[in-house]
Amino acid sequence: MSESNERPDALATRAIHGGQHHEPVTGAVMQPVFQTSTYAQTWPARHTGYEYSRTQNPTREALERCVASLEEGAEGIAFGSGLAATEAVLHLLPPGAHVICGDDVYGGTYRLFTKVMAHRNLRFTFVDLTGTPADDAIPADADLVWLESPTNPLLKVADIAAIAARCKAVGALLAVDNTFATPVFQRPLTLGADLVVHSTTKYLNGHSDVVGGVAVARTAALGERMHFIQNAVGAVCGPWDAFLVLRGIKTLAVRMARHQDNARQVVDWLVRHPEVKRVHYPMWEGDPGHAVASRQMSGFGGMISFVLDADLARAEKVCASTRLFTLAESLGGVESLIELPASMTHASVPEADRRARGIEDGLIRLSVGIEDVGDLLADLESAFAASRS
Ligand SMILES: *Cc1c(COP(=O)(O)O)cnc(C)c1O
Repeated sequence: MSESNERPDALATRAIHGGQHHEPVTGAVMQPVFQTSTYAQTWPARHTGYEYSRTQNPTREALERCVASLEEGAEGIAFGSGLAATEAVLHLLPPGAHVICGDDVYGGTYRLFTKVMAHRNLRFTFVDLTGTPADDAIPADADLVWLESPTNPLLKVADIAAIAARCKAVGALLAVDNTFATPVFQRPLTLGADLVVHSTTKYLNGHSDVVGGVAVARTAALGERMHFIQNAVGAVCGPWDAFLVLRGIKTLAVRMARHQDNARQVVDWLVRHPEVKRVHYPMWEGDPGHAVASRQMSGFGGMISFVLDADLARAEKVCASTRLFTLAESLGGVESLIELPASMTHASVPEADRRARGIEDGLIRLSVGIEDVGDLLADLESAFAASRS
């Protein structure tokens, strides 16, 4: 890659070339899988810069540079899962630190915070960060603010720039889980966040065949601290998984455009459907988060949730009656998925809590894939019909 272009490469170009170099020995165009744990030294402590693969691995580094480039951050740090990346961020904090967390975060994040890290001398307060929260939502003693936007499964939107300004005022770090939006549609570091975290399991890899995670730090200094934690704690992304995610990212921009086109047509169909009570999709004009979403996002992908005007039994029947939409947890792959948060991803949230949070029995979540949208609409139509009998 020439570094001397006056014109910076656009995201779709960086998805393919960002942080990547042809392999210098053979000229291989694709980053090879460096499946090695260690590297030969010519003299004690005289080495190529690579000593041991927990510390440095060229395949993982190519992925880290690529994601850093997409998120417009200084350093990427890749992990064995999204939750390992999340845990690594918490290791930045001193004992007794106070974490303010959005109240609608991924269930695994909630479990890590409340069942593991809360016993490690960290304090967690869960608050509603939807829209532009009042200043006192983020108290002066906050050390880290953790948020997702849009959230799961209600796709609520938080005003990232406003929250970043409040974090700066109180000296707190801001970390944003950008798994749902992807850097194609939203780049939190440019809105003032300090760290972005992804489950690469989802859209970045995009093919439902890897579990992985990555964090991106806005500054080199924070990136260096994260690399130290990555090496010291050790939950690194393996070279094969790094290779697969890097390969997946090459088509990220085209996949996201297609996810968005398909999702918009599914949204149009749902909002007109007489049996649908409510539709959540932040880039739909009727969504309560639309104003903030259109300020900070350039689009949105395939995540939709909607409330069927029906009881749990009928909602379950719809989910069990699709042919192309696979009934499964997870999201962000090329194939369409359907799930019922009340019985599946959010079953561990106590029922009263779940209802208070708007996760009704009839709430269905879709991860709209990149199949032919006519086929997807026909599939939903026939599942709705089958559930009536
Ligand atoms: C899946 C997911 C995670 C956790 O990632 P894993 O790779 O499963 O560990 C975190 N945040 C969001 C928004 C997710 O969807």
